[in-house]
Amino acid sequence: MRHSIRLLFAYILLFTFSSCSLVGIHLQVKNPKHPGSYPHFSKTIKLLGDQNTKYRNSYDVTFYNLNITVDQKNKYLKGVVEMRAIALTNLDTIQIDLFENMIVKSISYATLMSHTETGTGLITANFTRNHGAIFIPIKQKENEIFKIRIEYEGKPVIAPKPPWKGGFVWKKDKEGNPWIGVTCETEGASLWWPCKDVTNDEPDSAAINITVSGDLTAVSNGKFLGKETNGDKTTFKWYVSNPINLYNVTIYVGKFALIEDSLKSAESGKVLSINHYVLPANLEKAKKHLAQAKEQIAFYEKIFGEYPWYSDGYKLVESPYEGMEHQSAIAYGNGYKNSYNGFDYIILHESAHEWWGNSISASDLSDVWLHEGFATYAEALFVEKTQGENAYLRYLLMYRMFIKNKRPVVGPVGARFFDYKDSDVYMKGAWILHTLRTVIADDKIFFDILKSFRVENNGKTVSSLDFIKMVNEKSGRNLNWFFSQYLNKREVPFLEFYWDGTDFYYKWKQVDSTFIMQSEIILDGLVRILLKPTANVQKLSVSNKTYSEIAFNNYTQLFGTKENKRLVKEFGTNQK
Ligand SMILES: [Zn+2]
Repeated sequence: MRHSIRLLFAYILLFTFSSCSLVGIHLQVKNPKHPGSYPHFSKTIKLLGDQNTKYRNSYDVTFYNLNITVDQKNKYLKGVVEMRAIALTNLDTIQIDLFENMIVKSISYATLMSHTETGTGLITANFTRNHGAIFIPIKQKENEIFKIRIEYEGKPVIAPKPPWKGGFVWKKDKEGNPWIGVTCETEGASLWWPCKDVTNDEPDSAAINITVSGDLTAVSNGKFLGKETNGDKTTFKWYVSNPINLYNVTIYVGKFALIEDSLKSAESGKVLSINHYVLPANLEKAKKHLAQAKEQIAFYEKIFGEYPWYSDGYKLVESPYEGMEHQSAIAYGNGYKNSYNGFDYIILHESAHEWWGNSISASDLSDVWLHEGFATYAEALFVEKTQGENAYLRYLLMYRMFIKNKRPVVGPVGARFFDYKDSDVYMKGAWILHTLRTVIADDKIFFDILKSFRVENNGKTVSSLDFIKMVNEKSGRNLNWFFSQYLNKREVPFLEFYWDGTDFYYKWKQVDSTFIMQSEIILDGLVRILLKPTANVQKLSVSNKTYSEIAFNNYTQLFGTKENKRLVKEFGTNQK
């Protein structure tokens, strides 16, 4: 999802003031004195966030079949969810998840002969519930395929601030028709349906059948397979034929008009089917406005590899909240407006997630910068492609104002921790890639890394370590020091310097001794000198009779600068 900021405001600020500090916004890079705190991780959160317990690690989910009736009058769901899985070891108990406020009516299971068998002779399970976890005693031998069937119902949590604070959204459109959606990236899919609610086990496919009443339409991820009407109720059948992150599984219910379109890939010649669902009142402007997605998809294909879901298609669905990267059914609620730079950043950002977050997904949310940082950087790359290098740099400088440096970009593991208010996984994440590009200093290698990392891990879950490994391999260098600074330390490096008129003294501060990022200084706007600063102070002869001004290259690398007269003395002491 998109970070909740006001871009125009930031843009005006950037070009109105050269130095300014407002609440949480800094034109200069800052390392706050005090680190940010983490919330108390309750038992509920631990049960949800700890992905690698024996009750979860012992099986691999291959398929979900959701059958859910939406009762908009009572804001109520009734459903049957079937999960197909394979035992990875001999097991006697498994954990699945469902928020405590939802009622479990029954759970049953069966051993299957194959992945395609539907299963008969279900055995009723005596399950126990503990906070959001459901423990089901079920004996399976290693490699056995089994099915769990859960019948449940209840009033799902209502979203306090969708998509950032998620839950169900029960709205009405301007014509008074129900307009319903759900978001749960922060909370987890078990907010509304029972599942193995982890990010490191995606099903290979999913069927999503949604029943609604009257003349409403239910839209979900993947391909539309058709509808079945029974009296006043209609079931809309959707099918996702690719691995899917569970928080991406979603529904939209309302009165929708369909915009059918297609895109022929300039890369592969394949034809991508496009089916947008919008409120009928917005049909004409939507036709025009949403067409921009095609240019963006074409660009992303070029730099990040093929659109990942040709078999599922692409669609934007008008949502009663701003936006969300729901796989092959992206939520769009930005009012058909372009931002100051001529495109709709919700379409641009959420579509980038099809590559970053959906195609490759972080195996633990502690690495969610792999979704948000990469998607944010993808926006900047689109700006570079369409508007040039200066616009790209301006775009990133605008984002730099939101970098907080209060907590490391990589968060706590096993806590399902994703703080939507912490802009660093977005903006600092993007700046880490921008800085990495400068450090690698070879666009061919840099873009090969991005594309290879995405293509080679298509449909898989990955970690920061996987990315670092590829960067090291492709660049032929060991850049562990770079990532350990930018991902695991909260502070960004500061280049401390002092120019006494004859000599220029400099060193990195807020770094470990392994940090060896090179950086240029620019003399009188013309002469560039490459510095190799370390944590120890160094000296360079720069006479103010020859040059009157020294500038830093901190617009292509993320670091702060600070004048420190004591470097002269420190240098002298080190020489003794
Ligand atoms: Zn996002």
